[in-house]
Amino acid sequence: MRIGIIGAGQLGQMLGFAARDLKVECLFLDPSISPPARVCGDVIQRPFDDARALAELAKYCDVITYEFENVPVSALQRIEGTVPIYPPVAALRHAQDRLDEKRLFERLGIPLPAFRAVDAREDIAAAAEVLGLPMVIKTRRLGYDGKGQFVIRKAGDIDEAWGSLGAQALIAEQWVPFAYEVSSIGVRNVDGEVRLYALSHNVHKDGILRSSRSPLDAPEFAERAAQYVRRLLEHLDYVGVLALELFVKGAELLANEFAPRVHNSGHWTIEGAATSQFENHLRAVLNLPLGSTANRGHAGMINLIGEIPSAARAIDGGHLHDYGKTPRAGRKLGHITVVGETADDRDALLDIISRSVT
Ligand code: AMP
Repeated sequence: MRIGIIGAGQLGQMLGFAARDLKVECLFLDPSISPPARVCGDVIQRPFDDARALAELAKYCDVITYEFENVPVSALQRIEGTVPIYPPVAALRHAQDRLDEKRLFERLGIPLPAFRAVDAREDIAAAAEVLGLPMVIKTRRLGYDGKGQFVIRKAGDIDEAWGSLGAQALIAEQWVPFAYEVSSIGVRNVDGEVRLYALSHNVHKDGILRSSRSPLDAPEFAERAAQYVRRLLEHLDYVGVLALELFVKGAELLANEFAPRVHNSGHWTIEGAATSQFENHLRAVLNLPLGSTANRGHAGMINLIGEIPSAARAIDGGHLHDYGKTPRAGRKLGHITVVGETADDRDALLDIISRSVT
């Protein structure tokens, strides 16, 4: 059995490690030189939309998946029908366009911050009238880790927002003064078996995920978030892992976005759950029975961004994952996971480790 994975970054690498344990071979497609997943299988070093490379992937693999959501839909359409592609291309299409994604949430009764489409400068002022300020402008496509966003705090910011982002299709979104952010990760296999992981409590800085903790002691939110993820999985006839990011504001749970792939906020599942999100993603797309998503304790994860300090290599009580990437400011280079018997144990460990590595 061989699986084709589009993208050979750290998510591809972690999928590759899980594949090895399932005795499944991986063949990656990625244009970068020396990507992290090269240690787990052969990499076809070609652009993501290279027709010949895609045909090769389709020819040699039993199933195709992807590790990032900016894979061009047109590339997948080239091979659709010749080999199963999971998650389904329709899910990818929704996730690539924030307007489309938000309309999908609305259709499925998943609450979300109020929003407006922005196609012209005047639409920003009109959106501000309805949504109020602050409000956030986001590019409809190709945004990640807070890139392609502008927070408008006063009417005078509109020109600057339009100047920096106006060349692309945009949306305006109500600013949510959230208490905290959570994500719910679900998985569905080809036969329709569904499992959900415990909710993660996530902390972002400058739009980039810094840490996750799971489980979160908020059963009512966990139940509601799980329902929303189930709705998405069923509606999209989804296969694979899906992560839904949400804001918690008072008693409200508001959807921000979903990722049709394994997710950074689920890295803790490698040590902290009975079956990792990576193994379950592979099980789902290979139509194997899914593994238990139960927590093995109280897990926490810290991202290592920009550099891996030497202290990270000498930590006690945590698991370091070094993706083998060249250091660069703002780049995710690795992460550390801890698992405690209690939430207090986990938090104490995370505190010690974050002080020594950040
Ligand atoms: P995104 O790329 O949409 O996931 O945004 C990255 C991060 O920016 C989120 O995880 C939030 O921390 C913050 N953010 C995005 N949208 C909003 C919003 N409407 N209100 C408040 N914070 C937001």
